[in-house]
Formats: sequence, C-alpha cells, structure tokens
Amino acid sequence: MDFKSYIRVIPDFPQPGIRFKDITTLLKDGPAYKAAIEELTTFAKEVQADVIAGPEARGFVVGAPLSYALGVGFIPIRKSGKLPYESIKAEYNLEYGKDALAVHVDAIQPGQRVLIADDLLATGGTITSTIKLIEQLGGIVVGAAFFIELSYLEGRQKMGDIPVKSLVVY
Ligand code: 5GP
Repeated sequence: MDFKSYIRVIPDFPQPGIRFKDITTLLKDGPAYKAAIEELTTFAKEVQADVIAGPEARGFVVGAPLSYALGVGFIPIRKSGKLPYESIKAEYNLEYGKDALAVHVDAIQPGQRVLIADDLLATGGTITSTIKLIEQLGGIVVGAAFFIELSYLEGRQKMGDIPVKSLVVY
C-alpha cells in the first residue's frame, strides 16, 4: 500500500520551518490504518517481541493495536509526572523543544524482548530516551517500528544495531 499518500504534510506547524507529518489522515482510513498495523505486526513477529512499548501520545496509537494483534502486553512510556506508581525518567530533546519521559519501575521484566512503537522517527531523541528507560529496567530492545521516518534528521544512526522498520521514509 502507498502509505505516503495517506499522510498530510502541514507547512510551518507547530513552528515556522517545520513540515509536520499529519498521520490523522491515515488513522481515519480503516483499511490504511489496518494495513499499516499489519505490516508492523509482521516486523514485530520477525524480531520476536514479547512486549510493546510506546511513547505518549502517538506511540499509543501505533503500539496498542500492535500489542492487540500480537496478543502481547503494552507498556505506556509517559511524559514525566503522569504515572501514578514509582517511576524512572529520562530527559530528551525533540525536533522542537525538550521534555522528559518516564516508565513504571515494574513495567518490564529483566530479559524481556521489547519492541518500541511510535508514529515518527525524527532526530531520535524520543526513541533514545525510551531505549534508555527500557534498558535501565533490564529489557532488551529488539526493534523499533514507525509509520514514518525523517531520514534527513538521521535518527536511525543513534540507534546502533537495533533493527528499525518504517513504512514511509522522507
Ligand atoms: P524525535 O524525538 O525523533 O526528534 O521526534 C519524534 C517524536 O516527535 C515522535 O514522538 C513524534 O510523535 C513527534 N514528531 C516530531 N515531528 C513530527 C511530525 O512531523 N509529525 C508527527 N506526527 N509527529 C512528530
């Protein structure tokens, strides 16, 4: 499927100079959303993921259906200050701005094979902190799956040997 044709590009959002990739146009199309999740599910099976982790908020839209399709658990990686139980956190830089991500200390069992899911890989800041959190808990990051990769921002290069799957590359 030509997933790129379902993505809307918005110039100068949320700041001048940013060409924002709007995935809502893909999400609202049932067959396109389903096909996107199915393709990432195939990848998740290849890397033998036994749990999915997704960063807030669009990572939930990719990661949760993937978990459901595989019949494995989902771990929400949340913005700092939102989780109710004891958590660890990691700071990160966005393509625009700065933030911190957090995860519950008991979210992952040591040795669990974790696949990270998000809508888009840009500079890799979000994914790098997500990897840090998972590894700190003893999880093994076996892959990262995205709808979109902005290859000119070179996020993939920050991920070492971790296999990356993206449906659309700009
Ligand atoms: P990174 O941390 O790799 O620089 O940025 C990726 C994160 O920022 C993702 O969690 C993603 O949701 C968000 N993001 C950055 N740029 C865009 C964009 O153009 N479109 C969408 N949908 N999300 C973006």
